[in-house]
Amino acid sequence: SASSPASIGVTGLAVMGRNLARNFARNGYTVAVHNRTPARTRSLIEEFGHEGSFVPAEKPEEFVAALERPRRLVVMVKAGEPTDAVIDEFVPLLDAGDIVIDGGNAHFEDTRRREAALRERGIHFVGTGVSGGEEGALHGPSVMPGGSAEAYAAVGPMLEKISAHVDGEPCCTHIGPDGAGHFVKMVHNGIEYADMQLIAEAYDLLRRAAGRGPAQIADIFRRWNTGMLNSYLIEITAEVLAHTDRETGTPFVDVVADAAEQKGTGRWTVQTALDVGAPVPGIAEAVFARSLSGHTDLRAAARRLPGPQKPALTGQDADRLVDRVEQALYASKIVSYAQGWNMIQTAADQFGWDIDLGAVARIWRGGCIIRAGFLDEIRSAYAAEPGLPTLLADEEFARRLGEAQDAWRAVVATAAERSIPTPGFATSLAYYDGLRADRLPAALVQAQRDYFGAHTYRRVDREGTFHTEWSGDR
Ligand code: NAP
Repeated sequence: SASSPASIGVTGLAVMGRNLARNFARNGYTVAVHNRTPARTRSLIEEFGHEGSFVPAEKPEEFVAALERPRRLVVMVKAGEPTDAVIDEFVPLLDAGDIVIDGGNAHFEDTRRREAALRERGIHFVGTGVSGGEEGALHGPSVMPGGSAEAYAAVGPMLEKISAHVDGEPCCTHIGPDGAGHFVKMVHNGIEYADMQLIAEAYDLLRRAAGRGPAQIADIFRRWNTGMLNSYLIEITAEVLAHTDRETGTPFVDVVADAAEQKGTGRWTVQTALDVGAPVPGIAEAVFARSLSGHTDLRAAARRLPGPQKPALTGQDADRLVDRVEQALYASKIVSYAQGWNMIQTAADQFGWDIDLGAVARIWRGGCIIRAGFLDEIRSAYAAEPGLPTLLADEEFARRLGEAQDAWRAVVATAAERSIPTPGFATSLAYYDGLRADRLPAALVQAQRDYFGAHTYRRVDREGTFHTEWSGDR
């Protein structure tokens, strides 16, 4: 406990809020703490009060009174209505110039609405994406704040201090105004879905086409983790695959039901991508793959449909496939990240956000789920050319894709021949080829649209809009 005014307050002391409050305190800040149910506040002080300087408050009025001005108040409650309820409760107690920081997983449109409403009252609202789960919140998350530059000046240094650090640099930057921070957090989660799906497809190929067991695949992933695929998700995948179920003695992955669940940020990413008009098929396929896995009714009805039965590859053929899958995974990963960055750029253009795309890569190098060596390369790509239209056009990534593409195509073909579903690998390759194509069959689609709906078309050889009088009645 402390008698001096608190530099920051945290309300909402479930796993995330409690750990964030401890993180602030461990970094030397005096932290006012509050929770709707006071038992959580008391248990925080009992268990961790010795870690730093806390000011526990039971009532909102006490909490607000404990804060130095301008007040900095972090809301870490359940996203959605609870966040509005807490804002409505606290705002009457605040003054112009105070700063409300929403660290929950808010939808960016809610953040835009809340920011606008509070701005009318002179209160700053900083919608802040926080990634890294419970552990990140305590030891250093990746932090994505959105709001006014003035608000960032007042809270940014504190958020930077408690964030993860890589090479001495904080994994926190001012993303942009209003909903920009929560938008970028949403895309982070979308990319996370795509990454996880691609890794799962690689595992499936290694297991069913290359004939490797889970423990062997764990070793392969460990090796990959020392190379170009080095990342948190590859690292934990190796741990999971090496794990044996204690009760049955079988590989753990084999006792887990194969129906993937989701909380919704992947779905938000895809819904929003459709709204802003950004193609993110890698993320969409990942969301749909989880959805498909959960449809036990459809799967049961389709189980007896015909497909090839081929034994797994052996010897050098199997070894070659393992190496190709590494290439295919890397190439597909570049593509899904390119899609995510393109989506951020598209939204930034529409919403008038000036987002530093290289900085986004920088703050995802630590603290968050998609942290990876690879992000340094994305950062370099944008440092070299801030206006890069797509990551695929970066010289270094283009070179890597060129090296990987033969293996990538072979993997997708092998998967199709062996009836191993690889929607992530396949859609990434299709995106790559779609962007590369000199001519797309979209020309035919436009002609069809003109035929049945007089939707008109443009021509390659003349300016203007055209419609053909198609003969016959329709
Ligand atoms: P949570 O389970 O999402 O929410 C529980 C907290 O919300 C409790 O403090 C609860 O208070 C409070 N709350 C719920 N309804 C309320 C209301 N109407 N009025 C006041 N308080 C209310 O907690 P969490 O897992 O720690 O997550 C907090 C936020 O961080 C969420 O927005 C979540 O999406 C986001 N987030 C979570 C993670 C993660 O890994 N868990 C990662 C990043 C972001 P009581 O104790 O009184 O019930």
